[in-house]
Amino acid sequence: MSRRARRRPTFDETVMASGTAPIATGFPDTRRFIQAEFFDRQTGRTINRVVIHITSGNQFSSTFYWFRSPRRPIRRISQNGAVIGKIFAPHWLRRANSLEAGHEAGIVIRFAPKGSRLHNAIFDPAIHTLGAEEREQVPVSAHYVVDRDGMVYQFVEENNVAYHAGLANRDSIGIEHVCSPDDDPTEVQYQASARLVNYLCTKYNIPKERSHIVGHQEADMGTDHNCPGPRWNWPNYMALVNRTAPSFLSESFDNALDGLPAFMRWVPRR
Ligand SMILES: [Zn+2]
Repeated sequence: MSRRARRRPTFDETVMASGTAPIATGFPDTRRFIQAEFFDRQTGRTINRVVIHITSGNQFSSTFYWFRSPRRPIRRISQNGAVIGKIFAPHWLRRANSLEAGHEAGIVIRFAPKGSRLHNAIFDPAIHTLGAEEREQVPVSAHYVVDRDGMVYQFVEENNVAYHAGLANRDSIGIEHVCSPDDDPTEVQYQASARLVNYLCTKYNIPKERSHIVGHQEADMGTDHNCPGPRWNWPNYMALVNRTAPSFLSESFDNALDGLPAFMRWVPRR
């Protein structure tokens, strides 16, 4: 083997190599579609809400790598001494631990019996015990990521369920914003996100209201992730969502659509 190290691909090259062209069924302004994990595929699932997130770092590359190779602490769950599944989310672990102290009677957790897909189940500490925390590769993803420069990337097709907000995943679309809790989102980021959400609400007939455009913490009560946190300017954002022209009505997209808005040519994938 040559001692000369091979040139490492740049981040952009990695993205280009791993992604595919933007898909026809998603937000037209999406710069690139990069497949990330999703844990279910449903045809024509009902989408009732949009969940707003911020990442915990200011680099899109971090989010990209996190989605490509997520690692999270998990615990084994056992019954009568035998391992029967795994618990994935740290905040559920803490709630489960408080359960062991007898605070509640039962809790719904994301639970993966050996060799099966993730699903939700009731954890009863009277029957089950928690094993040691360990690190394991588990899926984590959101449908869209809005970078600080306003670029939008798609990671999961809208019709699929992404792994972003616990029990709220199934009927929602998740949007990550590259932003640490110590920084404000940028104005172009708000604007791009508002166009995206306007597009999604129009397409899925979701009211453009706070009851349907929710923060991670609101959608997923169990999370300990301060998301999107107090720096997210909800009044400004909601005004933008309602005021913005959906991007698919812009001239550049009209050209490709023969004058039809994008949602009219949207066809669910089989
Ligand atoms: Zn979040």
